[in-house]
Amino acid sequence: MAMNKPFHLLSLIFILVLIIPISHSRKILPDTQTPSAFSFIKDLQGCHKGNNTKGLHNLKHYLHQFGYLNYQNQTHLDDDDFDNALEYALKTYQKNYHVSPTGTLDAATVAKMTSPRCGVADIVDGVNTMATKKPHHHEPAKSIHTVANFAFLPNNPRWPASKTHLTYRFSPNTRADAIAPVNSAFRKWAAATHFTFSRVGNNAQSDLVVGFFSRNHGDGFPFEGPGGTLAHAFPPTNGRFHYDADENWVNGAIQGGFDMETVALHEIGHLLGLGHSEVQAAIMFSGIAAGRTKGLHQDDIQGIRALYGR
Ligand SMILES: [Zn+2]
Ligand SMILES: [Zn+2]
Repeated sequence: MAMNKPFHLLSLIFILVLIIPISHSRKILPDTQTPSAFSFIKDLQGCHKGNNTKGLHNLKHYLHQFGYLNYQNQTHLDDDDFDNALEYALKTYQKNYHVSPTGTLDAATVAKMTSPRCGVADIVDGVNTMATKKPHHHEPAKSIHTVANFAFLPNNPRWPASKTHLTYRFSPNTRADAIAPVNSAFRKWAAATHFTFSRVGNNAQSDLVVGFFSRNHGDGFPFEGPGGTLAHAFPPTNGRFHYDADENWVNGAIQGGFDMETVALHEIGHLLGLGHSEVQAAIMFSGIAAGRTKGLHQDDIQGIRALYGR
């Protein structure tokens, strides 16, 4: 019997040596997660009011970037205190993204927050562009703002009524395989609205300009490298639409890649005056999933028609 114990131990170790690498590799192999500038949020999971957690100021900056958190005293943006303002900001974010508004940085919220997204804020100048504005069934809508989930940007920036034809050009830094999907996105918006678009030469004057930029590129909205924010565009009549050059851009639904036409459809919506929609299926939803394509949704088309009264 004395000889058996070491044998059992050895065989146990032998079995463990066989099993551990298998279970370990299972966790690593199907890793389809895009590297993300937002990964730091995972380390903060579980945080709630009253906590002081190292790195929490990064979450504050995230919520500040997308319009949710503003302090009178800016120094609070850089401390790690989970205060009332942060809880309120987090609850607003949770409502916008249809997560239970617990005020705690729970797993469901972390999953939403770490997803790649558009760089345009959800709350602009205090206006929550994603807030639900559904009318009661028995009440006629009082204004176009109350009839659907699409959203306009504050003060309804839009192109003048007479301006129905918009020209666009590409910046010299535009990758060759982006031309066709961007052209296609403009055609799709033209088919669904009163707008027409035409491409002009790279050195011509144009209403809109599309380009690829990396990191800090001089407009006050730096990209963070792979993951995080993928693109942004400015409201009428600014006309600028920037892709983050550091992303894995593809044409079509390709695993791990971001479809250039899908992102163009979204950003053109901003160029025309739309804000973010809380409807996940709408092109104007802020999140942009890898490996998928998306088209214009009724919510997007209703939004443009309502904004321009056509
Ligand atoms: Zn956007
Ligand atoms: Zn930019």
